[in-house]
Amino acid sequence: MIRKYEYGDTTQITQHFNAKDFRCKCGKEHEFSVSDELVQKLEQLYATLNCSKIIVTSGFRCSAHDKAVKGSGSGQHTLGNAADICCYGQDGQPISSKVVCCKAQDIGFRGIANITAAYQYTHVDVRPNGKWYGDEVHGNSTVTDDFYKYFGG
Ligand SMILES: [Zn+2]
Ligand SMILES: [Zn+2]
Repeated sequence: MIRKYEYGDTTQITQHFNAKDFRCKCGKEHEFSVSDELVQKLEQLYATLNCSKIIVTSGFRCSAHDKAVKGSGSGQHTLGNAADICCYGQDGQPISSKVVCCKAQDIGFRGIANITAAYQYTHVDVRPNGKWYGDEVHGNSTVTDDFYKYFGG
């Protein structure tokens, strides 16, 4: 389910994720939504990748902020279903988004995309319907059915 949090809420949702990690970064102090399933799957990703930390660079976005960062204003971030993340390994270095995309696919995130040409940031979401596997370096349309194939194993 999707839960609502007040801006100042610091509930520890799971072992490695706090409500405040997901609040909107538009500069206004407003409430925000976060899907329980999203956080549970992020926790699975944390374990599978043996992370030292996962930084949520963008969680919930109000419509205005979503548009400001070139979103549609009504995408999965505005519903509390999405997070843009950077995963760090035990060596303290970012784990390649190519690896993160593949493991996110195994875990069952329904929206997954590499975000930057450096392959350090990954979008993941738990959209209720359909599936979107993308590589934003190559535009916003679906690029693959299988990240293992797409990234060459
Ligand atoms: Zn906002
Ligand atoms: Zn995103």
